[in-house]
Order: sequence, then structure tokens, then C-alpha cells
Amino acid sequence: MTLPRETVEARLAAFREACVQKRLRLTHQRMEVFRALASSEEHPDVESIHRVVRKRIPTISPDTIYRNLKLLAEHGLVSVAGMSADRLRFDANMGPHHHFVCVKCGRIRDFTSRELEHIAFPAEARAFGAPCSMHLEVKGVCSACQKGRKP
Ligand SMILES: [Zn+2]
Ligand SMILES: [Zn+2]
Repeated sequence: MTLPRETVEARLAAFREACVQKRLRLTHQRMEVFRALASSEEHPDVESIHRVVRKRIPTISPDTIYRNLKLLAEHGLVSVAGMSADRLRFDANMGPHHHFVCVKCGRIRDFTSRELEHIAFPAEARAFGAPCSMHLEVKGVCSACQKGRKP
């Protein structure tokens, strides 16, 4: 599944800007790794990103991809969406959003919710420190899996 071109362009523009601000060198490799992640709404793992980036940079290794993603995550330019099938999944959507995780195929889909925006941080969470964001993970069986289709 591909995202609308404007969404991808906006993510790339924000990424370039953030790299300049954080004085992070914008190498060709790094740009292609981010582009592959930003063009997907599948919350891909390293292997899936490698399959895409390899088309543009045939010599790149999964390890290089992993190191780039780890660095970008450390700088808050991408986030780790969680694990599925023991693999780390990455997310280029840095806006506030929540996830629907399919327990059958492992797909992670983004959603936003007006109702959830208005939920206050629980006192039990505030007891541990100062909260800054809240993320909800809804688990279930996606509609493709319900219909017995391959997503
Ligand atoms: Zn599914
Ligand atoms: Zn996401």
C-alpha cells in the first residue's frame, strides 16, 4: 500500500529540515532509508525496508539499514512502532496517532481519534513522572484477515 504523494513529500521535507537542525549529515543512504520508511504505512521492519532501498542502492546491507534507523530513532526522526514476529517495526509518522495491530498478519495501521485526544493522563501514570504523550494500541483481526484475504 502506498501513501498519497503529498504525505510522503511533507514527511521528506520535515525530515530534511530536522536533519539540518540536529546537524545530522544527510547522506544518500540515510535519505533513501527514510524515503522507503516514509512511503509506507505498513510500519515495515528492516527486511522490508531493505527490499525497497536495494532497488536504488544495490550494495546496501540490512545491517546498514538497521544502523541508520537506530540513529534516526535516537534523534527522534523516526519511531519504533513495536515488535511483530520478533522484528522491530519502524514508523515515520511522527504526529500523534494510535495503532491498530492485527494479531493474525501483524499489520499495524495508524489512526487518530478526537475522543482519545481528550483523555487525561491517568494519575497512576503521573505518579512515575511528567507524561508528554499517550499512545493506544488496539489489537484485533484486520478486515482483510476477517475476509480470509491476504492483506
Ligand atoms: Zn490481518
Ligand atoms: Zn504508526
